[in-house]
Amino acid sequence: MTRDQMLAHLRAADEVAREAAAHGHHPFGAVLVGPDDHILMRQGNLDTVRHAETEIARRAAAAYEPEFLWQCTLVSTFEPCAMCAGTMYWANIGRLVYGCDETKILALTGDHPENPTMSLSSRTVFGSGQKKIEVIGPFPEIEDELHVPHRDFWKR
Ligand SMILES: [Zn+2]
Repeated sequence: MTRDQMLAHLRAADEVAREAAAHGHHPFGAVLVGPDDHILMRQGNLDTVRHAETEIARRAAAAYEPEFLWQCTLVSTFEPCAMCAGTMYWANIGRLVYGCDETKILALTGDHPENPTMSLSSRTVFGSGQKKIEVIGPFPEIEDELHVPHRDFWKR
């Protein structure tokens, strides 16, 4: 997958994040990309324990064989939390592409009670496992764009 393809998928995930916000959910979005670079699934955040990346990893595990998912990429607007990285690990999705670092979510959400961001990077979570999941991110050139749906959201 080229960097331009990754940026296109990050924009698709951002579209999902904006739709989630329009439906009253937190503005996070994820897409699952197959080995042929086509988007297989889209998922927005549902609630505090049903994050976009956890939901899409569970749906993917139910729909596809682990050998296939190892060749797939989960693309997320923001770096997945420990719960999401863990679910992705167990679903056997082989690669993660994310737009903004977890520290940027913390800066945006502050001490908002609905998003008590953890400081545990996905690379640390995957690094504690027994298989090597590739992680690509952040993408500074798209950061401002991905921040937009969050700017006013967490001030409520
Ligand atoms: Zn999460």
